[in-house]
Amino acid sequence: MRLLLVEDHNRFAESIKVGLENQAFAVDMVDSGAGADAAVASVQYDAIILDLGLPDTDGLTLLKQWREQGNVVPVLILTARDGLDDRVKGLNTGADDYLLKPFEMEELVARIRALLRRPGGVLGLVMTAGNVSFDTTAREVRVNDQPISISRREMGVLEQLMRRYGRVVPKSVLEDKIYGFDEEVSSNSVEVHVSRLRKRLTKNGASVSVHTLRGVGYLLSEGSLNN
Ligand code: CA
Repeated sequence: MRLLLVEDHNRFAESIKVGLENQAFAVDMVDSGAGADAAVASVQYDAIILDLGLPDTDGLTLLKQWREQGNVVPVLILTARDGLDDRVKGLNTGADDYLLKPFEMEELVARIRALLRRPGGVLGLVMTAGNVSFDTTAREVRVNDQPISISRREMGVLEQLMRRYGRVVPKSVLEDKIYGFDEEVSSNSVEVHVSRLRKRLTKNGASVSVHTLRGVGYLLSEGSLNN
């Protein structure tokens, strides 16, 4: 899942980013309204964490523009201003939730997950494909009800394939969802993670496998048609 963090206090932003990455989120960080607009125009985020006080604009102004453009991405507002006024304005403007600074990382993660679990959000409870299940909240993968160990990137790949079970997922979608802007993505890295995931599923007795459609993308389905 890919998040955008809009926060101009760089050290603070960096620590939030690290905390979220530890919870298997891909995080893009921008420190201005202009940066946020550019990022939102180019990537479809699963959720946005938005600071209200930015150097070039106010977070509420940004949010209002996004909503007017029909962008319904879940937005969580971060604010140091604890006036009731700001909170009410934020929610009226279309924010989904807000968090007052300072906060605990666990609290932020819990709020983000709650946003993603809402109807239409990207976190369901548990997805299944054949005998494989993926608990999007606990971030746990099971085969035949037995938890398996799996790397963060492989989990990211599997999640996207399970969300589109039986349909082709273009490689570019996997790249978009499992890496942030600042991460180096070598040309074959998605292939590497897919290949490891495929072996891991087979080794653990999964009834579904990952198929490669050359030049098109990947498909998770029952049985092993090729590769
Ligand atoms: Ca600020």
